[in-house]
Order: sequence, then C-alpha cells, then structure tokens
Amino acid sequence: MTLGFAEIALPVPMRGHFDYLLPEGMVPCIGARVLVPFGRRQLVGIVMRCKSASDMPTDKLRAVDTLLDEESVVSQLFLDWLSWASQYYQHPLGDILFTALPVNLRKGLTQDALQKAWQLTDKGQQFDPQDLKRAAKQQALLIALKPGPQLHQTLSEHYSAAIFRALEEKDLIEATNLAVKAKLDWPEHISLAEQPRPNLEQSLAISAIAHQNETFRCFLLEGVTGSGKTEVYLQAIEPLLRQGKQVLILVPEIGLTPQTVRRFQLRFGLDVGILHSGLTDNERMQVWRQARSGELGIVIGTRSAIFTPMKNPGMIIVDEEHDGSYKQQDGWRYHARDMAVVRARLENIPLLLGSATPSLESLNNALTDKYQHLLLRQRAGQAKPVQHQLLDLKGQQLEYGLAQGMRNRIQAHLQQGNQVMLFINRRGYAPALICHQCGFVEECRRCDRSYTLHRGMNKLQCHHCGDAKHIPHSCQQCGASSMQPVGLGTEQLEQGIASLFPGYPAARIDSDSARGKQKLHQLLEDINQGNYQLLIGTQILAKGHHFPNVSLVVILDVDGALFSADYRAAEKLAQLITQVAGRAGRAHIQGELWLQTHHPSHPLLQDLLNNGYQHFARLALKERRFAALPPFSYQALFRAESNHAAQAHDFLLQVRQLLSPGPEMAAIGPIPALMEKRQGRYRMQLLLQSTLRTGIQQQLNRLMPQIEKLPLANKVRWSLDMDPQDFT
Ligand code: ADP
Ligand code: ZN
Repeated sequence: MTLGFAEIALPVPMRGHFDYLLPEGMVPCIGARVLVPFGRRQLVGIVMRCKSASDMPTDKLRAVDTLLDEESVVSQLFLDWLSWASQYYQHPLGDILFTALPVNLRKGLTQDALQKAWQLTDKGQQFDPQDLKRAAKQQALLIALKPGPQLHQTLSEHYSAAIFRALEEKDLIEATNLAVKAKLDWPEHISLAEQPRPNLEQSLAISAIAHQNETFRCFLLEGVTGSGKTEVYLQAIEPLLRQGKQVLILVPEIGLTPQTVRRFQLRFGLDVGILHSGLTDNERMQVWRQARSGELGIVIGTRSAIFTPMKNPGMIIVDEEHDGSYKQQDGWRYHARDMAVVRARLENIPLLLGSATPSLESLNNALTDKYQHLLLRQRAGQAKPVQHQLLDLKGQQLEYGLAQGMRNRIQAHLQQGNQVMLFINRRGYAPALICHQCGFVEECRRCDRSYTLHRGMNKLQCHHCGDAKHIPHSCQQCGASSMQPVGLGTEQLEQGIASLFPGYPAARIDSDSARGKQKLHQLLEDINQGNYQLLIGTQILAKGHHFPNVSLVVILDVDGALFSADYRAAEKLAQLITQVAGRAGRAHIQGELWLQTHHPSHPLLQDLLNNGYQHFARLALKERRFAALPPFSYQALFRAESNHAAQAHDFLLQVRQLLSPGPEMAAIGPIPALMEKRQGRYRMQLLLQSTLRTGIQQQLNRLMPQIEKLPLANKVRWSLDMDPQDFT
C-alpha cells in the first residue's frame, strides 16, 4: 500500500492539520519539514503523518513541493509533548511547533552543521603537483587534498590565506561545505574545580536527588537566598555529566548573567551552551544543533530554552521557578516551568525546581508530596540579614509618594555615599480606593474584597463577583473627603526623584531600560561601580543580582498589592521583598528595608515581616484554599480588545452564553481588565474558574470551534490564557 498523502502542520492560526499529496517517490519521515503551497504563498510545514487516503477529494489537494529533511527536526517525544500542549493550552499545534523551533528551521534553512572546506577541481585532479615545485606550500596543499575534501579550519593551521587564493586563481581548488561530525567525548574531559564541602542540608538534598536521578521525579529545592542552591545544582548534576547525560538549566530572563554561566563552566571545565533573546539566529541554531547531537553537556537558557532537544537527557533544572518571566505573555501563552514538568515526565528524567520564594503552586505540590521537598534554611555566606520596617502613611504629607520621614532617611543614606533602591510596584496598577486619613478601603460586601477603581467608567467594580457602584466622595468610616486611589504618585516618582534629591544620579531599571543583554549588563556594571546612587525599578530588580552597596530599600506602594484585584499581588510582593532583602547589602553595611503602607497591621504584612516567606507562603496557601483560588482551582481567561468597548464586551458575553456553567465551573465577567484601556483600545475579560481541571478543558474542547465562528470573533482582538498569571 502506498502512502500517497501527508498530514502537514503549518504555522497558521487555524486548528488541525492540512492534507497534501506526496509526489511519486517522496517518503518523508514524521517530524521532517516540507515546503508546501498555501494560498499564493509557499510555507514550511511539518509532517505529522503519512497515510494512504484522505477525506478530501484528491483533485482538491495540492502536492508537497520539496522535502527539506532526511531526518526529522522534531522527535516523536517532542511531537507528543507539544501535542499535549496544543490540547492543554487550546492553541493550534502548527503555531506551537514553530514556536518551539529555532528561526533558521522555521525559515526552511538546513539543520545540518556545515563547515567551509576545500576540494580539488576537475583540473586539480588531473594536475601533477610536481609542476608546482617552486611553490612548495601550494604543492603540499594539493597533495593534502588528493584523498578528498578537508575542513578549512584544519587546513588553515598549516596554510595561509594567500596559498588558498593562489590555487583558487589557478582553478585547481574550490571551496565547498562539509558536514561536521559531532564531538561526543566531552564526558572524558570533565575536570572538576575545587568545590565547597556541602553543609548538612545541602548534603541531604544532593543525596536525595542522587537516589532518584534515573527516572522522572520532581524536586522543589526551597532555600533562602544565598543558602547554596546553585551549589546543590552543581553537585547534583556531576554524576549525570560523568555518565554523558545532558542537563538543561532554565533561569529567569534577567538572571542569565556571565557570572552564572561561568560558575558552571569553571566547575566542570566544559563548554556551556547559552540561549537568550540577545543571540543571532545562527548562534541559536548552533546551540540547538549541538544540544541535539549530544555535543553539549550543559545548556543554560531563558524561557524558550525549554524547547532545546537533548540526545541524552539527564535532568532539567528550573532556577527561581516562581519567576514571572517563565510565562509567555502573548501568542501561545505557555509556562516554561509547567512545560518542563510534562517534558521531564515524558523523558523520564528528574526535574529540579529551585527558589527562595517558591510559587504557591509548586509549594502546594511539595506540601502534598507530589514533589519531593528539599529545604535549605541557613545562609551559606555571612551577610547580615536586612532589617525590615514599616512606615505608616496615614495622614502623612506625601511628595511623589514619599513621606517626610522617608525622604529624610533617603537623604541620610545618600549623604553617607550608599545606594538607595526605590521600588514601584506596578502589579498594583489598578488601584483600590483608600481613605488617606484612616486607611478605610472600599470593599464589596459580598466578597470581602476591595473594589477596583475604574476611572474611565467612573465606577468601583468588584472583580470577584462583578458588582459595581458609584465612586463615593467621602470616607464611610471617618467622613473625611480624602478618598484616593492607592498607588497615587508612583507614576510621577521617576520625575520627582530628580527634584527631591538633586545632585544624586538616578538609574531607572525596568523592562524597557533593560532591553537587550548588553544594555542591562552595562547598567548593572555601572550600578556596582557606584556611578548611580539612586536606583528606581520594578520587580525586575529583584532577580538574581546582588547589590552590595545598597543600604536602603524602599517599597513605596505596598497597599497596591494588599488591595489589588489580582489575587497574586500579595504573593508577588512577598517574593519581591524577600528577594530584595536577600540581595542588598553585605557584611559591613547594615541594610534597611522600608515598606510604606496605610495598613501596618495587615496580617499578611505582619506575618511576612515577623515570620518570613516560608511561613507567609503557607498562610497564603490556606487563604487560597479558603477562597477556592489557584492552586486549589483552575482558571482560564478570555481577553478581548477593541476600539469599541461594546464590541469587546459583547463578544465575551456571547462566549459566556455558549458555556454551560454548573456547580463545577464558574464564569466571572465580562468585566474590564485591570488596565481597562490601553493604546486607545478597550480591554475586557471573562474568567473561567473550576475546581476540576477537566471541567474547564472539556468545555473548551467543545466550545473553541464555536467561539471561533462567532461573527464578533473577527472584529475584536481576543485570546485565551490558561492558568493566567497577570490580569492587567
Ligand atoms: P543560592 O543559589 O542559594 O543563592 P549559592 O549557591 O550561590 O546560593 O551560594 C551562595 C554563596 O555561598 C556562594 O558564594 C557559594 O559559593 C557559597 N557556598 C554555597 N555552599 C557553600 C558551602 N557548603 N560552603 C561554603 N560556601 C558555600
Ligand atoms: Zn464582590
């Protein structure tokens, strides 16, 4: 039976595969790339299946133009993995496959490693080298090429560029390309650098991992900053590397510094493959190829490095697993940590998640024994712990969001020549309404949650039940007419700093100013050189960097997180505070961390400051359980944007009407997004929540095709986000 048809996955925003005819004699393997006609274009596609018949009439089918690969670019295991993702994230597989491939492969370029080489021309084959007696070097090169082509790299050790040119001009040799053989002997070249003796907790962690490093198992390594987590990674992977097994390490976007990479290089004396957004397509391709052929023992990269294939996988490590940069925020909205869990299970290898401030999701998995919990409670270094303090904002005169006492403190630290770090908490963007005199917060009576202020609609709205009301002019509790949105002034802070502290140079670090690896690197370098004394930043500053000269950290807007409609805001704030406290200051400078709040006695704040993140996180988990919020329920978020508010709203309303809500699934909305208008577009959301993952999945499987057919689906910009992390 001939397999004359192929199902091809294409990078188009449509579900399902496309049938094509296979020309006589073309036998592609599964996962190979082909060029196919699509409309008036030609696209690169991936062969999912070959078959003997198609449901489509044969005369309607077009034929595959070209087979690009002898060997597949996507393994069967990756196809299974990504097909799972397509189902789970309700996203077209074609788009997922192409997201997972390096750009060069998406464009149809070759997957083979080719290197410049030289060979004899026909004339060169006939030529007698004796005739070149007076040019000994040229003669030697001709003789060297007699047996066949050779790599330029090897030849150039013996022959200068002039020799090649001379023979090329005589038409005796010509340039060509040769495939290079993978060098797989790196395990023999491991040379272990000196390493510290692990302390007791580290030893326990290392041996727990060593006991189960042959099969799938998830570990959560929860260790305070500086407790030696990286040291545990290093010692845990050593036995695997010695067996020739490869290790993939994910780090947050901003955590991939030369220091991190160097630590792994130096420990084992091996080349480390590095993957981040600053690479060229060719550099990226090279790491992909070397990892797949087994040439690299260690690959370190940011989010999308999770798609790096490994010939002989040994372990995946996700460092700072709580970090928000692991979640893709547009297109296919995958979470690299969650993708890592599924991949490790399919590859049957261990997965090691590490963090000083684990996400509540992972912590819950550890506390319920789904993951093995490894704890490091002591700091390995000797930096003094940072002192935490609260500043009560009630009734204070604020300038650019800073109370008088705080401004004085900042001045004092600057005068001593130290650095001061100011945090603006953008997660608390959509503010609650708070009374500046007494701290009263407008709350929804049904949900005991603060209302969210929507200026555009001139309304307060509850993001938990959708209830809305007018904005009150005075405080219900004390009668003062000083109701104001929390977080006021943060926007102006950046401009205000210069006038408040003239003469002290300030650096702003956020995702805009830190774009591009070089730029960020330079900025961090300048900061540690002391070129700036004031550092203004968002969460991004709390990731993986040490700021030894910072003696004062101020978080301006704690209330924004305490009363945010985003239930993750408190968790993120606690992670920020803990991470910053762990990185500022060093042995001889006593660091201070100040939080400005109208609610100094808020239980979450008190718990965090008195008992630390580990205690806080366990308490926060209890609250989540009580409120049936993730990880005790599952969420999917529909977003819609339009220039016409009514269209975005109506689209989501129609989606809602298609749902069949039951006791196991709630639908909240449509309500405005936290940031209800951006770039002139109105933004609405519809949140699905269920205590059963399958509850949401089943409905979506049934509904997505219907939703895509809604007339408004083509008029508004809409998307679906599984396990949403961000509600702005
Ligand atoms: P983390 O990854 O938890 O922030 P690191 O592994 O970077 O911690 O360790 C912090 C510092 O302590 C590093 O300088 C590291 O070399 C050192 N360190 C880690 N473990 C030990 C140990 N057992 N003995 C001595 N120093 C250690
Ligand atoms: Zn409510």
